[in-house]
Amino acid sequence: MRILILEDSAPVQKMLQARLEKAGYEVEAVINGHQGFQLAASNAYDAIISDIRMPHWDGFKFIDAIQVICPQLPLIIITAAYEDKNVTHRLKKSQNVLNVFSKPVDFEALFALLTTITPQPHTSVNKMARIVCTVGPACDSPEVLGKMMLAGMDVARLNFSHGSYEQHEQSLCVIRESEAIWDKPIAVIQDLCGPKIRTGPMENGAVELRVGAKITIQAKAITGTADRFSTIMPSVLSDLRPGDPVLLDEGLLELRVITSNTEEAECEVVCGGILKSSKGINLPSTNLSLPSLTEKDWQDLEWGLVHSVDYVALSFVRTADEICEVKQFIHRSGKRNIKVVAKVERPEAVQDIKEIIAVSDAIMIARGDMGVELPVAKVPRIQDRIIQLCWEQNTPVITATQMLDSMTTNSRPTRAEVTDVSMAIKQGTDAVMLSQETAVGVDPVNVVRTMASIICEEEQYKDTSPEHYRQLTDDTSVNPALAAITSLANIKATLLLDPDGILYPSLSKWNRKVPTLLVTKSVHIARHACLYNNIFPLIIREELNRNEMVHRSMMLAKEWGYIRVGDVIGIVEGARTTWTGVKQVGAVQVVNIE
Ligand code: PEP
Repeated sequence: MRILILEDSAPVQKMLQARLEKAGYEVEAVINGHQGFQLAASNAYDAIISDIRMPHWDGFKFIDAIQVICPQLPLIIITAAYEDKNVTHRLKKSQNVLNVFSKPVDFEALFALLTTITPQPHTSVNKMARIVCTVGPACDSPEVLGKMMLAGMDVARLNFSHGSYEQHEQSLCVIRESEAIWDKPIAVIQDLCGPKIRTGPMENGAVELRVGAKITIQAKAITGTADRFSTIMPSVLSDLRPGDPVLLDEGLLELRVITSNTEEAECEVVCGGILKSSKGINLPSTNLSLPSLTEKDWQDLEWGLVHSVDYVALSFVRTADEICEVKQFIHRSGKRNIKVVAKVERPEAVQDIKEIIAVSDAIMIARGDMGVELPVAKVPRIQDRIIQLCWEQNTPVITATQMLDSMTTNSRPTRAEVTDVSMAIKQGTDAVMLSQETAVGVDPVNVVRTMASIICEEEQYKDTSPEHYRQLTDDTSVNPALAAITSLANIKATLLLDPDGILYPSLSKWNRKVPTLLVTKSVHIARHACLYNNIFPLIIREELNRNEMVHRSMMLAKEWGYIRVGDVIGIVEGARTTWTGVKQVGAVQVVNIE
């Protein structure tokens, strides 16, 4: 049984550890506070023994957060405030507190209590795949976001299809605040709405369309009826050709164009139903002349530049040129730290996927609109192909939409959703995304925790056979230091000294066996790396020489629970000149942690 002791008094910590080890328990002891909490929440222990007086912490907040993140984990509290009835009463009310002891500890009673604990199977929170969470009213408080980060959130998505600048600014502040509180970098994706075509307002909010009926879509704004309605993007009417399908509300309703001009398009209802105001219109077979970034998108992008988001995602991308145009715009603005994500959802993008991946910093498989723009049965194969191509081209990829959709309202996922997340991990996606599940769902922390557990389970079975890595050794473009580190067996982690953030994408691609701890001074590099599978940034801001840097990063990695005494780790550096003036292409060193 593994026990974690959280105690800031060194003598008490030592004494507790010695007595428990002597009794045959496997024990780790650290001071309580942020790192203690990280370890406690790592799910690697069967029980926690903790004081409630914590530096920079409220012990009750700690108990509540552990209850949310690992509800099964038993807590045993040891406190000098035992005589204070208010304290003991509050503690005993906490569901996960097994018992409260005074100081000095009655070891006989403590050992008797420990024998009643049945160890639960461990799942590590050191999952390798990343979780992208859409931020919305259900989670934009430091309390909820902090817990989501601890439960496994790595990237926050601000969806510019909804919300005002004030709301996004508020969310961004909360994200950065939580990032500072928990000392965990978080990448922020600004997701631009793109030319999303929508219906105008409908009479009483909704009208019924009957199969076979004629209906007109018109340019001039009106309140829609069963005979005619308007669209917020009237310019698309001139792109429509007779026979083109017009899909409404995620494709639930379908019209077919009979005639069309710049003012209106007459259509026939092929699939009927209730059409509500502001529902999406998809035109899968129409050659659209709309620009891929609308005026609103350019304005929103200015907001993103001013507020230093880490990634900007472009919706309804059609060509690689559109990505290049935005990249040039960002470049000219002087904001070199903003990267561009292409959302693949249009048939043209699927067609030109290799060119789009080649110029993008990341790809999002936007399965929601993709399943309307293309036959839905094709989505799984397209997903599989894009993940493979991204891996080949060393570009991070997010698998998005409806992954745990039922958890927007339910506390448990459907079996099909669990399989979907698991399959995306098996295919090698860098990240999986939550949309309304976290933005407006009933319990965003529970959703993230559920997703993390599915990822951890699947990652235990990933293919790390030498066969799988053969391509790497054949690839002469790969830095030999990276090739060497991935061939090492039995190391617990890779420490990557990569000050300019050049090597980590390759290591993310090739090393999916043990965690890569990316040591960097730059918060921007650290945040970008949060989207990459199996990269865990450690930010060290001090000016240190190489050896000091290695020493400091090993200390940090231990504090954060990535490695422990007795582990063997590999240290990798890119090209460098040694102190004797020898130029190296890269260096690998194997170290024992003491
Ligand atoms: C999607 O369509 O899958 C998607 C992620 O886009 P959005 O949620 O912005 O419509």
